[in-house]
Amino acid sequence: MEKSLVRPDLIKEDAQDIALRPRALNEFLGQQAMKDNLNVFITAAKQRGDSLDHLFLIGPAGLGKTTMAQIVANEMQGGFVQTTAPALDKPKDLVGFLTNLKKGDVFFIDEIHSLKPAIEELLYIAMEDYGIDWVVGQGPMARTIRIAIKPFTLVGATTKAGVVSSPLISRFGITCRFSFYEQEDLKKIVHRSAGLLNIKIDEEAASLLAKSSRGTPRVVNQLLKRMRDFAQFSGEDSISVQVVRTGLARLEIDELGLEKQDREILKIIIERYKGGPVGADNLAITIGESVETLEDYYEPYLIQAGLLQRTPRGRVVTSLTYGHLGIEPLEGQLF
Ligand code: ADP
Repeated sequence: MEKSLVRPDLIKEDAQDIALRPRALNEFLGQQAMKDNLNVFITAAKQRGDSLDHLFLIGPAGLGKTTMAQIVANEMQGGFVQTTAPALDKPKDLVGFLTNLKKGDVFFIDEIHSLKPAIEELLYIAMEDYGIDWVVGQGPMARTIRIAIKPFTLVGATTKAGVVSSPLISRFGITCRFSFYEQEDLKKIVHRSAGLLNIKIDEEAASLLAKSSRGTPRVVNQLLKRMRDFAQFSGEDSISVQVVRTGLARLEIDELGLEKQDREILKIIIERYKGGPVGADNLAITIGESVETLEDYYEPYLIQAGLLQRTPRGRVVTSLTYGHLGIEPLEGQLF
């Protein structure tokens, strides 16, 4: 198993992390435009006594999709039922969930891009008509019966909107796209989490942590807990910027939140492919990861940080990359 403190998909959350989850819309920091819209849709649905329209959440891991789904359930005063698409193996697995839903429940399906076609078909009718078409009997005696289910809100989340089928997308009434968090918002998350965990942290230390957390709340919380360990170990009762600097250096995380493997990817593009372009397949083989891992977990943040570009001819690094790694560009290199 790979280990990483900054790849959100590899961070294991414990009971403390669950305690850090915002429970209401006004505790959810950042993503202001999305929150404002959701607030309107939630308030209007509540006034009408309806369940909220089905909601599609798109964005990289650790940005708050599950948290937002739970918040929607809380705000709508409904229950929260959660699963992931890979766990829905047979149609009966989905039917089990659907028939147990109560009116107004939020049914959260994570990684919805990987639903099997037969399950997706069942979901269409559930989403549109609050029903399930179920075949009973066999051979010539087989017939389809319609089972009614309670009005519910499906919240589907994905890191890969590009591979979700258009019939499924079209059945969601509301779509929210999560972007990486601004540093100011991450800093607020650091202070909120520190307060809940009873940790003291300086302003400057919080800023540095926010900067090194890849725009991702799950990462900021994880690094905060590790910095608490470093502070405690050296007998300090508050996390200072010095503790964060030393802590990050010991974890080999730089001030942009890159780990060794991120820097390795950039170095390989520079050293083996003269800064690019290099195709994703070749690059993945060279770094020993799958194309999927490269595209889903490494590239989004490197692109966001301005260190990598996806072009039609392949991946290229930027002038920022050379500056960040302290490598001189080749003579005459254009960006
Ligand atoms: P995703 O489902 O997108 O992978 P999660 O909802 O599991 O992300 O969020 C990861 C963690 O980050 C949560 O445990 C939560 O504590 C924290 N978090 C996410 N978004 C926010 C936010 N906007 N404000 C405060 N904390 C957040």
